Amino acid sequence: MVEQVRDYIGGQWVEAPDAEWLNVVNPASADVIGKVLLTPREVVAQAVESGHQAFQEWRYVPVGERIQPLFKLKFLLDEHINDLARTITNECGKTFAESVGELRRGIENVEVACGAPALMQGYNNEDVARGIDEHLFRQPLGVVTAITPFNFPAMIPLWFLPYAVATGNSFILKPSERVPMTSHKLFELIEQAGFPPGVIQLVNGGKDTVDALLDHPQVKAVSFVGSTPVARYVYSRASANGKRAQCQGGAKNPVIILPDADMEMTTRIMADSAFGCAGQRCLAASVAITVGDARHTFTESIADAAIQRRVGYGLDEGVQMGPVITDASKARIESLIAQGQQEGADVLVDGRNKTVPRYERGYWVYPTILNNVNPQSAIAHTEIFGPVLSLMHAASIEEAIKLVNDRAYGNMACIFTSDGAAARRFRNEANAGNIGINIGVAAPMAFFPFSGWNESFFGDLHAQAHHGIEFYTQTKVVVERWPREWNRQF
Ligand code: NAD
Repeated sequence: MVEQVRDYIGGQWVEAPDAEWLNVVNPASADVIGKVLLTPREVVAQAVESGHQAFQEWRYVPVGERIQPLFKLKFLLDEHINDLARTITNECGKTFAESVGELRRGIENVEVACGAPALMQGYNNEDVARGIDEHLFRQPLGVVTAITPFNFPAMIPLWFLPYAVATGNSFILKPSERVPMTSHKLFELIEQAGFPPGVIQLVNGGKDTVDALLDHPQVKAVSFVGSTPVARYVYSRASANGKRAQCQGGAKNPVIILPDADMEMTTRIMADSAFGCAGQRCLAASVAITVGDARHTFTESIADAAIQRRVGYGLDEGVQMGPVITDASKARIESLIAQGQQEGADVLVDGRNKTVPRYERGYWVYPTILNNVNPQSAIAHTEIFGPVLSLMHAASIEEAIKLVNDRAYGNMACIFTSDGAAARRFRNEANAGNIGINIGVAAPMAFFPFSGWNESFFGDLHAQAHHGIEFYTQTKVVVERWPREWNRQF
């Protein structure tokens, strides 16, 4: 059955007359599994107006009451986790276990935002001058929005939504038009959780819908996650229109492997990092830089791991890696592998031209390893966003750290070693916001911010935890004088 994904505006499921619809496709089977509304500008304006109305009441609901529907949402998400995970696998391609994993990370953000009564406290000083006190309060902004990518259909909306509403804002989600069915399910639960109409809304669509949000004067803040060119564009347009913006972009994450690393553990973790979610993670390891003898030991073991990975439909038993998101994405990844080859890399494991029995029409790229990638080549710097690991080889840790830092992105950098001093030096010198030490996917827990740097992030405050609370509130400083002599005697 093909499902129609509509908008959720003012507490109602709505569709716009005469609007266009886009097919939603299961990337493992290439079957059309749904249709999503492309919301026109005037309907976006209705959602913003409804959010603005809701905000007038919601901001005065005491914070301890505002978090009650979030508690309910947490339990609803737990209860429906398997159903949501199946939806993620069917529209996004990742395995069922990966889908459950991303939901758990999303739910953690709901849990952390339930701490808003403590997290959004201000601070004060008595007697900053004689008889004068000074206080800092945090107040919500108004209508805020998040524009999210295809690769984490549940977790990434939940990086923003709970903090935005716990702090008293009204929130509009614009999910990726390639994976809208998860948000639809999420909003069915949001409806049951008991938020007042207009506090949390869903508008579907692509670029035109995003532009309508970026241009609307009542939208006060924009959170974005996606590719770097779009992140840069959204950041520029939102800030030119006077809005707060936090825009997370793409990545090309380097990982150093020292010869003293535990090679069995390193290989297992690196294979999960590079090939998990078919390499479609902004924290996927995409460049491995071996030092010294690790060149031989790691190259051999990661090639074995790549060949052995079980590729298939994510709801089938034992499958370790699903398809990539679209046919166009498959073609782009394959052409980047060919480009790497032309630039002098050896294709040590080739994942092109492969299929999966019973799913021949799916968008399959198997794990691929490019060896001896030239650090100066274009492929060494291009985000592939597929299951492709590039290997480079360095003679020393100095050379390896230089290769780590010689790049425009700065989402994540990792090191595998048993040498504490080497790890400490790397931690200090690596030019990236998320650092892993014997970790392959350095994804911060919900109570830490997600700190991409450089071309991986445009803005100041990041997603999650205190940064989320600060992003969605503006500070007001009150200086007050109450002279003792005014103290009436009753
Ligand atoms: P994308 O940039 O194509 O799309 C992201 C969102 O922007 C979607 O909602 C889409 O509808 C919208 N959009 C697309 N083109 C637009 C345009 N021209 N104008 C306005 N809006 C537009 O990204 P994607 O392919 O969905 O996701 C993959 C990318 O996201 C990768 O580059 C990945 O590294 C990045 N990503 C980054 C993080 C992070 O935290 N830094 C996390 C996940 C994904």
